[in-house]
Amino acid sequence: MIVMKFGGTSVGSPERIRSVVNLVNDDKPKIVVLSAMSGTTNALVKISELFYAGNKSAVAEIDQLEDKYKVVVSELYGTEEYRNRGTGLIRERFDLLRSFSRRPFTAVDECTILAQGELLSTALTRLYCEESGIASMLLPALNFMRIDRNGEPDSYYIKEQINRELESCPDVKLFITQGFICRDANGEISNLKRGGSDYSASLIGKAINAEEIQIWTDIDGFHNNDPRYVKNTKAIRELSFSEAAELAYFGAKILHPACVWPAQEANIPLLLKNTMEPEAPGTVISSKAVDEGIKAIAAKDNITAIKIKSGRMLMAYGFLRKVFEVFESYRTPIDMITTSEIAVSLTIDSTVHLDKIIQELQLYGNVGIDRRMTIICIVGNNIMNSKESIAKIFKALKNVPVRMISYGGSRHNISILTDSEYKAEALNRLSEYLFMDEHRSRHKRHSSD
Ligand code: ASP
Ligand code: MG
Repeated sequence: MIVMKFGGTSVGSPERIRSVVNLVNDDKPKIVVLSAMSGTTNALVKISELFYAGNKSAVAEIDQLEDKYKVVVSELYGTEEYRNRGTGLIRERFDLLRSFSRRPFTAVDECTILAQGELLSTALTRLYCEESGIASMLLPALNFMRIDRNGEPDSYYIKEQINRELESCPDVKLFITQGFICRDANGEISNLKRGGSDYSASLIGKAINAEEIQIWTDIDGFHNNDPRYVKNTKAIRELSFSEAAELAYFGAKILHPACVWPAQEANIPLLLKNTMEPEAPGTVISSKAVDEGIKAIAAKDNITAIKIKSGRMLMAYGFLRKVFEVFESYRTPIDMITTSEIAVSLTIDSTVHLDKIIQELQLYGNVGIDRRMTIICIVGNNIMNSKESIAKIFKALKNVPVRMISYGGSRHNISILTDSEYKAEALNRLSEYLFMDEHRSRHKRHSSD
């Protein structure tokens, strides 16, 4: 069995839904995981914020979103009968949304509201399959996807439940399920956080021991640099799980970072494919040994650097533990760390608890903060073996003020922290030195500088 996940833009219009159905319509047994149609989850977030604030305009927002879905229904189905069934289907969802205006609003209500996007996209797609004479079945994610008290997927439960569901329908080849949504340890509706459909797909793949997990988006895989800042970037054909995990986390917004580990643990290849260009090979992420060297550059913005400087750190033990405990107690992950004998610098990307963290860190030394920083992440395999590349990185960044460097943490990554102002320059210079070196030296020979 394979898992195929389609993101919001891939199901973003009646036309796109039709091409998804076209893509999944073959005899191979599969589970298709769908996101909400693009824009829907954002609209639902807005609606729940309005409900929280007790703002009456929530209902107007709901009506507006329903109007969009009415258009989808009228364009997606070919017959009156299916248009009526589609209309009934969306009315049920939107009536539920409107019902929240008549009672006090809770956190569970918010999750219930956010879940409607995936419930809608899967129900509409399944109905379209039926109208097209394609046998398919809805596999309700709320019956098997669950997180535990720490918000982590309950792998054992997921495996038991989903396999039970599949075994009860041995003749079905095409299952359609919701990404993103799940239940929490109390059985209430919850979710895997924004962008979590990729994670759903990968958890499902692991639970059923799939042959392959395919993530379909609207780009032809991971690129070797950020196409929004650098011209002539190229799609990467092959990556190891570790390289992909680094890239997904640092910037490349294609894949939810948590999506890599379930596939890696179960050793299931993860394919990134482009719905607009289904024949293109995309990126294959697997445990296969891959070429050495630098493969990609990515950047992560909105990073805050924190420096703690203290004479007490000199030759002391236990200092770093105390510092880390502060971050742990505020559940704030640390990305990069560099140390000297009397100071430690580290970076965080969530600043929700920054004020309290600073207050506590001040017990241990002088604390300095740099905001609006960017981590430039250089990813590859065994990159430390390539002395030449390291020299090129430093040459490339000659005019970029580097605040921190993390090298040697793994064989796959070099991270550089700089002021966000220098991000575009750093990405372009690195691209030029690392990926277009031939072009650069030729250019140099022909010009006088
Ligand atoms: N619909 C959810 C979101 O927009 C989940 C996803 O698309 O992956 O965040
Ligand atoms: Mg996504």
